[in-house]
Amino acid sequence: MEIITAVEALKTQSRQWRSKGKTIVLVPTMGYFHEGHLSLIREGRRQGDILVVSLFVNPTQFAPSEDFDTYPKDFERDRRLAEQIGVDVIFYPDNNEMYPSEYKTYIEVSELGRKLCGVSRPTFFRGVTTVVLKLFTIVQPHVVLFGWKDAQQFIIIQRMVEDLNLDVQLIGMPIVREPDGLAMSSRNAYLSSQERKEATVLYSALQKVQSLIGEGVTEAAQLRSEMETIVRSAPSVRIDYIHIVSLHDLQQLDHVEHGKTLIGLAVFIGNTRLIDNIRV
Ligand code: AMP
Repeated sequence: MEIITAVEALKTQSRQWRSKGKTIVLVPTMGYFHEGHLSLIREGRRQGDILVVSLFVNPTQFAPSEDFDTYPKDFERDRRLAEQIGVDVIFYPDNNEMYPSEYKTYIEVSELGRKLCGVSRPTFFRGVTTVVLKLFTIVQPHVVLFGWKDAQQFIIIQRMVEDLNLDVQLIGMPIVREPDGLAMSSRNAYLSSQERKEATVLYSALQKVQSLIGEGVTEAAQLRSEMETIVRSAPSVRIDYIHIVSLHDLQQLDHVEHGKTLIGLAVFIGNTRLIDNIRV
């Protein structure tokens, strides 16, 4: 496994792979791997000839008040895990390599980036789409894997790929959970033991609506209120949003439409922000 830190070196390498007819697969990450990341990397290994995993804590997607400086890191462990799975290249640039001092260009998918998480994090998705498009240009992948854990991110990237006629195939991977249902996230490491216990309310709320929908309930207001009751039962949890929206354009729905609906929530537990969702 090779570790490449320079943009130009990886571009040159990717051009060579492409000229030899190799299929290039990319898994973008911010590192501090957990089973969620590893599920993407393992599937990525099956999807093509060359597997590139990028490991970059992207400063442009963090607001000044957010956890950029304290975001958890363990490069040696990540490197070992990637090697075990058979990753070919870890792309590990520093901030200056990705955003030199004269950097000015940002990609914004309008409207979609202002809904759900975009309300409390207004510049987040512009940072994500900017870095993802840069990664596409640098790695020149045929296939890219993302997790449905970040459902809005995936929907926005799908929109960007379609709108800009990008030649990549996107694969969305299922959410990997802890045994008690909490969606795996690098940020779970911030939770105290009491907060960790209370964090199970996100998935409990989603399971409750799933079963209500199974019983025939479709009214969004009723489903949202059931979720609120469950989430509010945890004293340290503060709701950022609970939304029932179209998977296509993230517009609020009055009624669940089977196969077309995203039910997502975001909460703060202490200073930690957690998200989760289901598709129904
Ligand atoms: P991150 O390092 O948090 O930016 O995540 C890198 C990729 O892993 C993104 O595509 C995430 O959606 C995906 N991911 C993160 N957590 C999970 C999870 N629990 N299950 C599946 N995919 C995940």
